[in-house]
Amino acid sequence: MHDAATFPIGLSVAEARARIVEIAAKFPLPTESVPLAAAHGRVLAADVIAPRDVPGFANSAMDGYAVRGADLPSAGEKAFHLCGVALAGQGEIPAVAPGTCVRITTGAPLPPGADTVVMQENARVDGDTIRIAAGTVAGANVRAAAEDYAAGDLAFRRGTRLSPARVAVLASFGLAEVRVVRRPRAVLLTTGDELVAAGAPLAPGRIPDSNCHSLAGLLGEHGVALLRHERLRDEPERLRAALVRAGSEADLVVSSGGVSVGEADFLPRLVAQIGEVYFWKVRIRPGMPFLFGRVGAALAFGLPGNPVSGIATFLTLVRPALAAMSGATAPAPLYARLAGDVHKRHARAEYQRARLECDAEGRLHARPLAHQGSGMLRGVAEADALIVLPEDGREFRQGQVVEVVPLPGWPGL
Ligand code: AMP
Ligand code: MG
Repeated sequence: MHDAATFPIGLSVAEARARIVEIAAKFPLPTESVPLAAAHGRVLAADVIAPRDVPGFANSAMDGYAVRGADLPSAGEKAFHLCGVALAGQGEIPAVAPGTCVRITTGAPLPPGADTVVMQENARVDGDTIRIAAGTVAGANVRAAAEDYAAGDLAFRRGTRLSPARVAVLASFGLAEVRVVRRPRAVLLTTGDELVAAGAPLAPGRIPDSNCHSLAGLLGEHGVALLRHERLRDEPERLRAALVRAGSEADLVVSSGGVSVGEADFLPRLVAQIGEVYFWKVRIRPGMPFLFGRVGAALAFGLPGNPVSGIATFLTLVRPALAAMSGATAPAPLYARLAGDVHKRHARAEYQRARLECDAEGRLHARPLAHQGSGMLRGVAEADALIVLPEDGREFRQGQVVEVVPLPGWPGL
């Protein structure tokens, strides 16, 4: 395979990522309108311009009394005649004339004539007379119309991922639906003669398929709709058929295993025959045999079978492709200080498993864990993040700032 290859082999992580993003951007996902109830976590397909002011009308920020600021006492106390009540949701709001006040609740429209709300804690009720103490500033406790969003404001750019608060903003605009990028659709293939479904009896030499769970979970966490998972033996014809079928149905095919140079590693040759290999092997640890290609209309990601390699290459190389296909804004990188010295024995970029700890001064520290083997799930299961040790360094000192890639689940929300 190596000798006859017509595609690049052995890219740096940066080169691999740049190539992936460049190609994935040529596979844009279609867009669709969804009701707000289904919009959480989705990527906006177009800029959102505020169609109206929020709030739409001046209203009270407190339960209290609406008055004219000019009437307020500068010292002591002053009596106001209570001339009505303004409740949230009420259409008819009484006006405030000089020397009078209106009882008002939070969210009620500010009565005509009033410009200030006195908190009820600063007022004494005496029948129809309200005695208001000095201290409230004219204009206090009023939410001005359009103070949050004014009609015409650019609220969100396309590519923004919709968080609960962002969906709430769309609701406050009075929108019922929003145009988002369709979820990427994936087929997941786990390959290996040794694999059996978790819970099934284990014949000698067999192991439970754990990657189907880590990878399905990662896909789900990244907003991907999983069309199907297939567990396949290392049989080229079966693999070929599964790849062809996946390539005709999915936006991406994620496979695990069979992508290295062993006797049972058929994936590079099959992808090259059926579709196209963009590159093979990345100077990354764990995960070196990673393959990026295309089968049919689907992008193909050949992840190595080692459990940690699959997770590390998903986060570093598959995730940027998902963002590029969706036009999603990439999250800002996260950095932490090493909590101990680290020695790297090789010239590849290394993604070490680490715990993140924040100290009382607000500094984030990354503490490398034991169990750093690429087959050791324990290290990654106990980790909060992967520490990025770039390929050109060997010695990394305690206190040195490094990039960290948080694992789904950190910081525990
Ligand atoms: P491969 O990339 O196929 O050479 O597999 C590398 C290592 O990962 C081997 O020890 C496999 O047994 C293991 N492995 C491959 N696929 C899985 C899987 N789905 N779940 C757990 N371990 C796996
Ligand atoms: Mg294998």
